Amino acid sequence: MSDKIPYKIYLSENELPDSWYNVRADMKNKPAPLLNPASHKPCTAEELSHVFCDELVKQELDDTNAYIPIPEEIREFYKMYRPAPLVRAYCLEKKLGTPAKIYYKFEGNNTSGSHKLNSAIAQAYYAKKQGLKGVTTETGAGQWGTALSMACSYFDLDCQVYMVKVSYEQKPFRREVIRTYGAKITPSPSDTTEVGRKILAEFPGTGGSLGCAISEAVEAATKQEGYRYVLGSVLNQVLLHQTVIGLETMTAMDKYGIKPDVIIGCAGGGSNLGGLISPFMGRKLRGEADYQFIAVEPASCPSLTRGKYVYDFCDTGHVCPLAKMYTLGSEFMPSPNHAGGLRYHGMSSILSQLYDDGLMEARSVEQTSVFAAAQEFARVEGILPAPESSHAIKVAIDEALKCKETGEEKTILFGLTGTGYFDMYAYKAFNDGTMSDYIPTDDDIAKGLAGIPKF
Ligand SMILES: *Cc1c(COP(=O)(O)O)cnc(C)c1O
Repeated sequence: MSDKIPYKIYLSENELPDSWYNVRADMKNKPAPLLNPASHKPCTAEELSHVFCDELVKQELDDTNAYIPIPEEIREFYKMYRPAPLVRAYCLEKKLGTPAKIYYKFEGNNTSGSHKLNSAIAQAYYAKKQGLKGVTTETGAGQWGTALSMACSYFDLDCQVYMVKVSYEQKPFRREVIRTYGAKITPSPSDTTEVGRKILAEFPGTGGSLGCAISEAVEAATKQEGYRYVLGSVLNQVLLHQTVIGLETMTAMDKYGIKPDVIIGCAGGGSNLGGLISPFMGRKLRGEADYQFIAVEPASCPSLTRGKYVYDFCDTGHVCPLAKMYTLGSEFMPSPNHAGGLRYHGMSSILSQLYDDGLMEARSVEQTSVFAAAQEFARVEGILPAPESSHAIKVAIDEALKCKETGEEKTILFGLTGTGYFDMYAYKAFNDGTMSDYIPTDDDIAKGLAGIPKF
């Protein structure tokens, strides 16, 4: 269409997708169903409806409908901060001296500082529509808690957040943002739930983990009338909502006749990566096009690259359904790295299946190399990236440098999931040269894997 691709490709409001895309509909091997932890039978909609909103249960279990309409109220909210820009990283390309063309989809343009608002607003909407009083959730680094508190305040829903204790203490400003949006926030593990008290008794002084906080939030939801639990990643429904990222990207690229060769994203629970790649994966699954997909995870929490593909608990307290996924075991305690949003022990069932089928690759990267990439990016592209997002930057730069050697003019697309303004202690450690790389030993990994249920 045009010789020169603009630095930023903006879509107009009416180019915002009107449906989410459900990649499961095009997958030959469907992701394995959630299992009831007691009976080991697939969870029924009825069982799940005690924990999740009815409409979200439907989305969770839907393996067949490729397109799920985005309700008008959600589209209206999306319009406040979407469509998100697709940026051509001309300045980074020049600095690297690569013939590769690099694009990134920027999701950091809202107060949560991440893509998480895309699903938070959808989950809050369905809770409101069902007439619920409120929702409970966990948050690790705090982006999800922020996003959900924003969404709940918009729909006037009560919001209770269990925040992993170390983050609660290390990120007081993140906590205040969440409180400003009116949510109630409790450091986890806490003595407000049975499971929290049990974990505290067993591990006094623990700084908590996402797995613990999930158990507490689920218990809090099921014990209060009119409450349900919501989760910020991993689940099929969350990945579905995040496809707004990939759909916008595809529309923008198609408009300019751009075809990505390599698509890269960081992977914590898998929702942003799944959302970015879904529509492209759909084309690949239908035989219409081919792409190379790369999931990037921290070397300190390597679920895809060093985990097992089995049924496992989703939480430390074992109150949630079992999910088949690449996992390090629910008792795996990742060392305290700075990419809080990538510290979950498991991975989305959808991405796990795609990876197992060889349709997607995975790489793990070390923290200091991630921050070096973040710094290089920040200095020319203007955006201070979140540590999580910087995992994708690292591999995008690696791929671009490979092109420099081979002379290939590949088109590289990556997801820039958010900004890092609340991660300045991490940047400080990097700048001071005190940051280290934590890589679990085979022994550490074996210990985690030993906690996987056998049946
Ligand atoms: C939460 C988070 C992630 C990782 O979550 P996924 O579910 O794997 O997408 C990545 N980047 C940022 C900025 C986050 O907040």
